[in-house]
Amino acid sequence: MCGIVGYTGGRDAYPIVIKGLKRLEYRGYDSTGVALAGPSLRVYKKKGKVASLEESIVRKELGGSTGIGHTRWATHGEPSDRNAHPHLSASGQLAMIHNGIIENYSQLKQELLSKGYQFKSDTDTEVLLNFIEEIKHNNACSLEEAIRIALKRVTGAYVILLIDQDMPDTIIAARKGSPLVIGVGQGEHFLGSDASPMLEYTKEVVYVNDYELAIVKPQELVLKNLGNERLTPYVQKLDIELAAIEKGGYEHFMLKEIFEQPKTIFDCLRGRLHAEDGTITLSGIEQHSEALQKANRIVMIACGTSWHAGLTAEYIFEECCRLNVEVEYASEFRYRNPVIHPGDIVLAISQSGETADTLVAIENAKSKGAIILGVVNVVGSSIARMSHAGAYTHAGPEIGVASTKAFTAQLAVLTMIAFKIAQLRNSISPERLSLLLHELESIPAKVEKILSNIEPIQQIAKQYAQARDFLYLGRGYNFPIALEGALKLKEISYIHAEGYPAAEMKHGPIALVDDQLPVVVVATKDSYHEKVLSNMQEIRARKGRVIGIVTEEDQAAIELCEAYLAVPAADEMLAPLLNVIPLQLLAYYIGIEKGCDVDKPRNLAKSVTVE
Ligand code: GLU
Repeated sequence: MCGIVGYTGGRDAYPIVIKGLKRLEYRGYDSTGVALAGPSLRVYKKKGKVASLEESIVRKELGGSTGIGHTRWATHGEPSDRNAHPHLSASGQLAMIHNGIIENYSQLKQELLSKGYQFKSDTDTEVLLNFIEEIKHNNACSLEEAIRIALKRVTGAYVILLIDQDMPDTIIAARKGSPLVIGVGQGEHFLGSDASPMLEYTKEVVYVNDYELAIVKPQELVLKNLGNERLTPYVQKLDIELAAIEKGGYEHFMLKEIFEQPKTIFDCLRGRLHAEDGTITLSGIEQHSEALQKANRIVMIACGTSWHAGLTAEYIFEECCRLNVEVEYASEFRYRNPVIHPGDIVLAISQSGETADTLVAIENAKSKGAIILGVVNVVGSSIARMSHAGAYTHAGPEIGVASTKAFTAQLAVLTMIAFKIAQLRNSISPERLSLLLHELESIPAKVEKILSNIEPIQQIAKQYAQARDFLYLGRGYNFPIALEGALKLKEISYIHAEGYPAAEMKHGPIALVDDQLPVVVVATKDSYHEKVLSNMQEIRARKGRVIGIVTEEDQAAIELCEAYLAVPAADEMLAPLLNVIPLQLLAYYIGIEKGCDVDKPRNLAKSVTVE
């Protein structure tokens, strides 16, 4: 959450910072602001998206070759001009942007208030900034030293970027718990929450770690720990291309990402799945073969859509690996006192690899002796680095706030991990495995087929867009898909939607069914099929409006639907990879019908780096 950008070098900072903010806008869009250093320190900020800021500053002085910029996802204080970052310190000497939450800000604020400080905003950020200034003033020390002292008193998560009016070519940055990448150019440096703001300028990047401080000048990057010891920056090569973060002719990133899925699933399987010889190559998993053979339990930890991927995988793991599987919300897990035994396997799932709750949850589990496997999309992210091993999803940058291609890539990776473990544990017959591997190989083409016929989905979206509520039902492997379908609709169209196991309907939700309620039933052919058809009958008997996700040519199911979307036949274990596609598109087109900003839904932000 929240995007931060910085630049120092020989060019004008403003255009680079603004372009970077547009790329990071998916991380938050409550307000936008920039600070530019040069002969004077100037701060411009505005409630709303980057475009509002740009409009408001056309006639301003925008020169200067050092600058920082912020797009906010508000945690402390309403979205407003006043609470927008950058904040200026009481003396006006320092400007700062911040991603994260300073948890003990109210205590620090009291201290500062008692010393006569006044605050112009309601943010925790301004408190930290003035706390730093107070230390600098009291101790007559450098800004760098003051930041180090201040951060030792701070609890919470942060990335901060500061500019001092007296050092107009320097940005000081520090991180704990939120992401920070520094791009290394020729006589220039770039800073970002991710690498997207720097892609056209450099491919050399340094991922800053927790409790590190960077002093960034055009010609020099000094990295230190909070104990003031110098560290050697580890420069890595990026392998993302600019095209991957552009819309490429699609109206929205979400639509582009939905349509990328045949390729992203294929990329995720490539080089790993060898259906012909019945093998799977997943080197991260192979490193821990022995532990996986012996393990009694796998705990999956995730949030949001990633949690749904985990829940779907639970069914697959139990079936194939005959292992105990638990799927936990990271935010709950981290504050319980969960029972973890040495040798337990903890599987963390996160698109960004920066999800704050998941990070802390796996830290806890690691300290109790668990083996941490990560399934993440962003290469080099914190969860990837903290895991003992894992597998990247290789879905490419996902910009649409509602996750789509990252979900199917997670599911594809988790499915391969399950098959690999099943093979290691001898818990699946070679014949069944071979069949499943061939089926998995055919998934990208089947997704392509679904995407080649979107007209019925657009029609259904038109027909039902005015509904006030939706119910989504599914059984077995498709129960988590019902949850995911409901989540997509809520996120994108703001229509209230609930996902339920189809059989649970009778224990409450059926009371909601009337002739107004659309009920989306995931009813593809599987071992629960007959039961699901009965559930559909029950809804019809109460005049509910059934929208079926059905297997092609399944007349029995089609006859029970007011409207339906057909998907190709697939093994029940792999069907979720197909069934979720029409649900993503349905949410997208309903959102469009309702005039919603589908790429940037209200109140949401991608990459939840605050708890
Ligand atoms: N806590 C800060 C605020 O509310 C920063 C939030 C963010 O990460 O955007 O302004």
